Amino acid sequence: MSTAAVTRTDYVALAHELAPTFAENAAQHDRDLSFPHENMAELVRTGYTAMTVPPEFGGDGASLAELCEAQQILAGGCASTAFAVNMHVHGLAMIARLGGPSAEWACQAVRDGAVISGGFSEPGVGGNWWHPTTRAEEVEGGFVLNGRKGFFTGFPGATHLFLSAAITDDRGLPEPMAFLIPKPEQGVRVTAEWDAAGMRATGSHSLALEDLFIDEKWMVGERGNLPLLFMSGVHWAWCSFASCFVGIARAALDHVVRTQRQRVISVIGKPNAHLPGIQFKIAEMAARVAAARAHLEAAIHAEHDDVDPLRHYIDMSVMKTTVTRLAHEVVTIGMQVQGGSGLATSDPLQRMYRDVVAGLLVPPATDVVLEWAGKLALDVPIFAEPRWVG
Ligand SMILES: Cc1cc2nc3c(=O)[nH]c(=O)nc-3n(C[C@H](O)[C@H](O)[C@H](O)COP(=O)(O)OP(=O)(O)OC[C@H]3O[C@@H](n4cnc5c(N)ncnc54)[C@H](O)[C@@H]3O)c2cc1C
Repeated sequence: MSTAAVTRTDYVALAHELAPTFAENAAQHDRDLSFPHENMAELVRTGYTAMTVPPEFGGDGASLAELCEAQQILAGGCASTAFAVNMHVHGLAMIARLGGPSAEWACQAVRDGAVISGGFSEPGVGGNWWHPTTRAEEVEGGFVLNGRKGFFTGFPGATHLFLSAAITDDRGLPEPMAFLIPKPEQGVRVTAEWDAAGMRATGSHSLALEDLFIDEKWMVGERGNLPLLFMSGVHWAWCSFASCFVGIARAALDHVVRTQRQRVISVIGKPNAHLPGIQFKIAEMAARVAAARAHLEAAIHAEHDDVDPLRHYIDMSVMKTTVTRLAHEVVTIGMQVQGGSGLATSDPLQRMYRDVVAGLLVPPATDVVLEWAGKLALDVPIFAEPRWVG
């Protein structure tokens, strides 16, 4: 009998190990708009990027709870790095959940060091990104894609692109589908490099797909299955997204508490922590962090398999919307606690403040979530057209 111990990476412990190092360069990447290539290399080297490879494909199969906690810790060090790798870890989990040949080869590629970034949002599509305007035309051996992708987080460090397009079926109807392709030499053009107020080191470039040939073997699942891909794996997506912003909020609370315990105000001759106003605001921050974590935890541990797919999608989307709002409030209150120095570039809080706002803007679109959740609660048909009847 073999006595070899089965070794499995503790991804939360790994995140604790990596986050302080990532934190050291976070300000510089933010200032320079530079992509943290060295962090991504470390995430690949240590196996962090392979955490969601399931055991049947030779991986550790990290649980959703483990992924979310690890991502929160990482985001506390460098939110841009955590957000870039978020696209990879949850994207792979969704592909793996769908199963089939694409799951097998994607997992193998990731075990070999592949890094995935995903582009689904497009200019003009808004929150309806399962109706891509990028067109796929069928040609011998594959497809030719033409279209635009608005934000492609992690593009500079990616080896593979996960993207959507629609082909027109025999009845003239669009069939939305997904592809995972090795980053191509031709057919993809960066139309705008990411230059934004927050999440500055994510390399969330805008792309044009111009006569991009994709071999049919790079299809993820079947034609027309983009909504199924999103629905069945939505808990991986929105819990992972939410975790990045809860991580920023947790780090902001820790940072502000540390500062206020040390900063002495001469009027009272004691640290600011003794001021009632500071105490109340710290309590407000802590209460919001606790609420955000509780909602996220509930979503992580909810039933994900035996569910009504649409209700499940909406539940997860409401969680992401609520949690990111709370995270944004935490950092906003933190700025008031910290005072003017919180705005100084030397204080990491101002970077957290600029990064956390992205939580309100990344998918799923808040207005769409609220429309769907409200209609569900009121028993109004969600997909009836026109969407509003006066
Ligand atoms: C830092 C960052 C990184 C990102 N990374 C990625 C990425 O890697 N991959 C990716 O695919 N996307 C990414 N996104 C894009 C994100 O998905 C988009 O923000 C989203 O698709 C909405 O597009 P938009 O922000 O241009 O807003 P718009 O679509 O122009 O929406 C503007 C407003 O209209 C509302 N609205 C939009 N659609 C509807 C609708 N159907 N019904 C009612 N109201 C609506 C919105 O709620 C919003 O208030 C990223 C965004 C950010 C900020």
